[in-house]
Amino acid sequence: MVNFSLSNNQKNMIRDIRLLAPQLEKQALEIDSRHSAAFDYSLVTELAKYNLLNPLVPPEYGGRGFDYFTNALLMEEIGAICPGLATVMVFNCHFTSILDMVGTPEQKAQYLPLFTHKQPKLAAVALSEKAAGSDVGNMDTQALLQDDCYTINGQKEYVVSGAIAEVMICFATLDPIRGRSKMLALIVPGDAKGLKAGQLRKSMGIRYAHTSELLFDNVTIPVANRIGAEGDGYMIVTQAIDRDKVLTGAIGVGLARAAFAKALAFAKERKQFGRSIYDNQAIAFEFSKMAAQIESARLVVWKASWLIDNNEDFTVAASIAKIAGSAVAQEVVGKAVDIVGGRAYLEGNPLEKLYRDAKIFSTLEGTNHIQNAIIASLL
Ligand SMILES: Cc1cc2nc3c(=O)[nH]c(=O)nc-3n(C[C@H](O)[C@H](O)[C@H](O)COP(=O)(O)OP(=O)(O)OC[C@H]3O[C@@H](n4cnc5c(N)ncnc54)[C@H](O)[C@@H]3O)c2cc1C
Repeated sequence: MVNFSLSNNQKNMIRDIRLLAPQLEKQALEIDSRHSAAFDYSLVTELAKYNLLNPLVPPEYGGRGFDYFTNALLMEEIGAICPGLATVMVFNCHFTSILDMVGTPEQKAQYLPLFTHKQPKLAAVALSEKAAGSDVGNMDTQALLQDDCYTINGQKEYVVSGAIAEVMICFATLDPIRGRSKMLALIVPGDAKGLKAGQLRKSMGIRYAHTSELLFDNVTIPVANRIGAEGDGYMIVTQAIDRDKVLTGAIGVGLARAAFAKALAFAKERKQFGRSIYDNQAIAFEFSKMAAQIESARLVVWKASWLIDNNEDFTVAASIAKIAGSAVAQEVVGKAVDIVGGRAYLEGNPLEKLYRDAKIFSTLEGTNHIQNAIIASLL
């Protein structure tokens, strides 16, 4: 039976985050305006205090053990506060998802407890390269097996938390000519010899998500760090992103909700021509449409999360959720900026930040064109 009521635990989690939200949002705005090369740990530290930085970690490893639905609720809340912080969390979740799917008991025992400490630890996923964007199988980063170790050489293009991660999953291929069929996933410690952060990728939005190139120069990793079998890399990346892209949809819903709330408060307060601008039907109906769009996107995110939790086929639903969440974020924040007028365009206004933040979510986690291709292939 489908049930839309939230459990007491879920309601309490949302209440706790909403209590933190004003302070975190203020800090996020300040960090964004600095556009500094150094990662600011204050936001992740706050979430780590509540063991929420990587909420998928199962309780036996010290984590909160959230199901996907609860994690989607959390991501909507964090997306409403700081979409960049939510993006950092998504990459932490990828790490856990992948270990959960195909990690050995030893790998889980060694790495999962790291993400439950009050001292925040971050994970990264090193996949994209210059020639391997949507076409991830077209990668050049190579892993060569010698004795009991893989030696990795190559360059990754954009890696969230790459320069600061405690640990990451690097996707490489044994043979660049046969790219995809020879891909493998390797756990690489952030301080591995030969691993260097390249250029910091300063971006339009989600600036809290510290993103950089990563250079692998003869990085040597024991065979025990391989996740799954040789040749499983492509399957691992598609299955993990297939699930976790729902979280990107949830972030989009949160971002839209935040933009909507700011514009609504403004529209009811702001007076022009002797009455509040909300009293003009042209404006009020924009809010009706936005409310319907946000609710629709939320429901498809919830449905995809429910399918994942209930071991049902979720591929199409997850792509729909990702498209809906990222689209509603861009549409609603665009309208919110219009309604709030000139002041929303100025640096320091939260809507100016959200407008920039929203743009990436149609690209991250498989572009929306690729999501359409996935859906079309299954119709
Ligand atoms: C801020 C930021 C953070 C990121 N973080 C990470 C990270 O942590 N780890 C990581 O590995 N990667 C990361 N990425 C990379 C991101 O996942 C890629 O940008 C994304 O997968 C798209 O690849 P691309 O940019 O090379 O675009 P391309 O694949 O070159 O695509 C360009 C355009 O062509 C379209 N296109 C491509 N193929 C098709 C097709 N078959 N059908 C229809 N349209 C198509 C795309 O939709 C897009 O519009 C990050 C990127 C950014 C900007």
